[in-house]
Amino acid sequence: MIPRVRIAHLPTPIEPLPRLGAVLGGAKLWVKRDDLTGLAGGGNKTRKLEYVLAEAQANGARTLITVGAVQSNHCRQTAALAARFGLGCILVLSGEKEEPPSGNLLLDRLFGAELIYCRAEERNQVLQQVFEEAWSAGKRPFLIPLGASTPTGAVGYLTAFEEFLRQGLEVDWIVAASSSAGTQAGLVLGAQKTGWKGKVLGISIDHPATELQQRVADLANESAERVGLRVRLQPSEIMVNDQYLGKGYGIPSPQEIEAIRWFARYEGLLLDPVYTGRAAAALIDLIRTGFFKPDERILFWHTGGTPGLFAERYRSLFKE
Ligand SMILES: *Cc1c(COP(=O)(O)O)cnc(C)c1O
Repeated sequence: MIPRVRIAHLPTPIEPLPRLGAVLGGAKLWVKRDDLTGLAGGGNKTRKLEYVLAEAQANGARTLITVGAVQSNHCRQTAALAARFGLGCILVLSGEKEEPPSGNLLLDRLFGAELIYCRAEERNQVLQQVFEEAWSAGKRPFLIPLGASTPTGAVGYLTAFEEFLRQGLEVDWIVAASSSAGTQAGLVLGAQKTGWKGKVLGISIDHPATELQQRVADLANESAERVGLRVRLQPSEIMVNDQYLGKGYGIPSPQEIEAIRWFARYEGLLLDPVYTGRAAAALIDLIRTGFFKPDERILFWHTGGTPGLFAERYRSLFKE
């Protein structure tokens, strides 16, 4: 296996969702609590960053530079990790500057990250420029791409899948939010490697299915190469549902707000307004419309993001 920094609280628990299952007509549901990975509010990026940070260290990095939306969970976890390891951190954030900061952005500030704002269209260009400036200034920067979804980062979810298998719960489906593809790539790679009989369904947050299937397959294959596995996946083997994109990234639909309320009121669980709210709304709709067979067992893989609930822009959605 490849180098890894140990920072996440693992294994994350698997818990049943009996009350939610009952209101959904007796659906057999569990949740994998990757909102509890332990790093500054938790989430799926922690697992990927364990491998990416080891790679950065091997490269002599002294500053982590990454990119995301203003309320990025990935940026928040990267900022916390940099603080923990005494590294500098520069975040290139697309979207409107928030004053005063709230949610994830408040935490980015608290961890001492340097914040640079830009428009979404110019994000990659600004990122490159920031990297070059940091390099010239002798900061030994290491660039972590969007969502830490690199071949190295995805290994975090290959090992997460193996962790899930060791926990011994048999399910027919894993359902998870999917966006920059690293999480799903790692999970499908794990499923393939171990000959798992179930299916991994990615709920697309912001991409058409064909695009995301291609990205997941490519990343899984590159990641397989990285760890020396002889596995080849085709895009057609990747299950993605893109029926829940709604009005776009970070714009929760009424169904998503309802899903967040249901998880809260029936299970005392927090979801987030960008990723897990959308994936949970999809899960609920797919159960109601008979996509799953009645006796099939389903694991909802919670990918984190709960600090987003406290962002100024989303708070008002939950007034009543
Ligand atoms: C980043 C993120 C995802 C998506 O994971 P990818 O690996 O980018 O596909 C899902 N949920 C939350 C809460 C996230 O922050």
